[in-house]
Amino acid sequence: MAEILFSRVALIGIGLIGSSLARVLRGDSPNTQIVACARRAETLAAVRRLGIADETTDDPAAAVEGADLVVVATPLSAYAGIAAAIAPALQDGAILTDVGSVKEAAIRDLLPALRTGVHLVPGHPVAGTEHSGPEAGFAEMFADRWCILTPLPETDPGAVAKITALWQLAKMKVVTMPAEHHDRVLAVTSHLPHLIAYTIVGTATALGDDLRSEVIAYSAGGFRDFTRIAASDPVMWRDIFLKNREAVLDVLQRFSEDLTALQRAIRRGEGDTLEDWFTRTRAIRRSIIEAKQA
Ligand code: NAP
Repeated sequence: MAEILFSRVALIGIGLIGSSLARVLRGDSPNTQIVACARRAETLAAVRRLGIADETTDDPAAAVEGADLVVVATPLSAYAGIAAAIAPALQDGAILTDVGSVKEAAIRDLLPALRTGVHLVPGHPVAGTEHSGPEAGFAEMFADRWCILTPLPETDPGAVAKITALWQLAKMKVVTMPAEHHDRVLAVTSHLPHLIAYTIVGTATALGDDLRSEVIAYSAGGFRDFTRIAASDPVMWRDIFLKNREAVLDVLQRFSEDLTALQRAIRRGEGDTLEDWFTRTRAIRRSIIEAKQA
């Protein structure tokens, strides 16, 4: 990049997502100063060992001093406390963005603390793995995935353009949409599938010892794929369900109705209903592969 996008970036939370972004900046914007902030000394020691930040601190207010970009990359339940802690230390013209998986709640928790002259551009890079912490990050994680920005109508377009450029640097495709729409879409594509995986794996662990060991031995039959999703971070996912409650409950209601319909088709021996259903779902998989999102 000929022109430097941001001169000093504060990453509040430096786990899977924060550290992956730090790696992108290290590689593609080497003159950007990176400050990493986390709570635990082990996390900050790992960041220093990995060499993905110029400075480390456990004080969010100190981290954001002089930063032209602040990225909140913690679980959603920490947002309000972080906003209150950093607000007085944010410089005029600074851009505050985040990577959280629920956007209406992110805005609700971040915006009230900010004064005029600080630009909030909420974002969600739709990329990740079931792993956590700075060691788990990698720059290529974002490549060819979508990043959804949910700016408010009054958000400064220049700030949105800079956050767009940031995620494009990470090789993401960037789109903007209202926060409420994002939350409804992600309830279907991400939150419901995680809830189902947590349920299935939980049911299996509650089985008797003999059956449980067989479930593990023969897991390649489908169960194994659910266990990967159900291994995702418990705190992060607790927060997602609590913060996107309405949209998740709404799609869960639809899911329960469809499950009941399939249950009835099995009970009544309605093979055509099952086959039609599975033919439609197979087509969805093909479209995902064609869109290179598999
Ligand atoms: P992670 O690997 O667990 O890292 C979380 C980071 O936040 C750590 O540095 C942690 O510091 C810090 N942190 C945790 N609780 C905190 C608190 N109460 N106050 C201050 N700092 C705190 O998490 P992640 O997977 O990167 O997820 C971060 C955010 O990205 C979440 O909001 C999530 O919704 C979103 N997201 C995740 C994914 C995914 O696949 N994982 C994908 C897209 C978006 P310590 O290590 O010191 O505790």
